Amino acid sequence: MQSFTHYFLHFGFPIVIAYLFFRDEWKKTYLILLATMLVDLDHLLATPIFDANRCSVGFHYLHSYYAICVYFLLLLLKRPFRIIGIGLLFHMFTDLIDCAFIYRNCRESLIDTSVQVVFDFISTMMGM
Ligand SMILES: [Zn+2]
Repeated sequence: MQSFTHYFLHFGFPIVIAYLFFRDEWKKTYLILLATMLVDLDHLLATPIFDANRCSVGFHYLHSYYAICVYFLLLLLKRPFRIIGIGLLFHMFTDLIDCAFIYRNCRESLIDTSVQVVFDFISTMMGM
C-alpha cells in the first residue's frame, strides 16, 4: 500500500495536476513536474543513501524546512518557476505521507525528528 501510494503520487497524480490546472500545456507541465523529482538527488549526500525507516522531510538538504520555504516562494513567480514550486511542494507532501506510514509502522525510527512532533500532535488530536 505504501509503495503504491508513493509511486501513484509521484508519477500518476502530477498528470491530474497538469491536466486540471495547466490544460493548455499539460504535457510540458507534466514533464516539469516529473523533473522536480531530481530533488531526491540530495539523498546521495546522506549515509546510508537509502534507509526505509528514515523520513526525508526535514532530513535531507533539499527536503529541509528552509528549502520548503523557498519552494513556497516559487509559487509567486511565473511559469515555469510556479510549476516547479508546485512540483517540489507536492513532492514534499508525498514524502510526508511516506513519513506517516513510517510513523504508523515504527514510531521509534522518528524519535527526535521534527516530523515526530507534528505526527504526535495529529495523533493526539485524532485520539489515536
Ligand atoms: Zn523526496
